[in-house]
Amino acid sequence: MKRRTFVKNLSLSAGLVMASSVIPAACQGTEKTNFELLDLHVHTTDKFTIENILEIGKKNQVKFGVVDHPISWALKDDNDLKNYIEKLRKYPVYIGLQPTYLGWSKNYSKELLAQVDYILMDPQMVPMGNGDTWRIWEFDTYIDDTEDFMKRYMDYSMEVLTKEPINIFGWPLFLPVCISRDYYKLWTEDRMQQIITAAKARNIAIEINDMSHTPHEEFILKAKAQGLKFTFGSDSRNNNVGRLAYCKRIAEKCNLTAADFYVPVKKG
Ligand SMILES: [Zn+2]
Repeated sequence: MKRRTFVKNLSLSAGLVMASSVIPAACQGTEKTNFELLDLHVHTTDKFTIENILEIGKKNQVKFGVVDHPISWALKDDNDLKNYIEKLRKYPVYIGLQPTYLGWSKNYSKELLAQVDYILMDPQMVPMGNGDTWRIWEFDTYIDDTEDFMKRYMDYSMEVLTKEPINIFGWPLFLPVCISRDYYKLWTEDRMQQIITAAKARNIAIEINDMSHTPHEEFILKAKAQGLKFTFGSDSRNNNVGRLAYCKRIAEKCNLTAADFYVPVKKG
């Protein structure tokens, strides 16, 4: 290419960039999504209360589902679960649970579990096979053999997807920090399809996780083509609830519409 042609092309493309960067500004205030904003992965704390969440929801026009953990250090028994449901029923939010270990539901009465609007579970506590557990959200998670980890991670994901009474698969395709640079290589067609097939068989929705920016476009399109539904989740317990920047962006890129989302049914 001659220099003059090069310069001409350059200024042409620069002009295009400028023109297109003006468009979003011109459309400000008319931004519309094809779906309602619903963050189904929100936690409360002593300092970040349900009132704080509702205030943010009102300001930013986002709806919420609140989750807590059915485990010894949180909702330890039926009594805790009953109080949790009764407390939240007064508010305009969906009431959810986020179990963290296999077989948890045996420790609660069926009648009470039936009053919860939805159950979200992720596969982040991966058994190492020697009695220990990888807690893969932790920054210093140590993986010495990536293929061995992926096999155990897939096995555990399949246990969650095939056996647990859940509506939403959380943190899908998330990888520990030390191997996350290989994300596109490790999430092979075969592994992605296994997850989609298992979720589809039990109508389990896929969380688009705003904290980890997973799953990616290719997985979402593949899952959508096979009829899976999605949810948005910030997994936040602070002012980040309902921000959902990644969720909104990737959902629009994948042309998700209201019909592609799972919305829980309120039980009370
Ligand atoms: Zn959570």
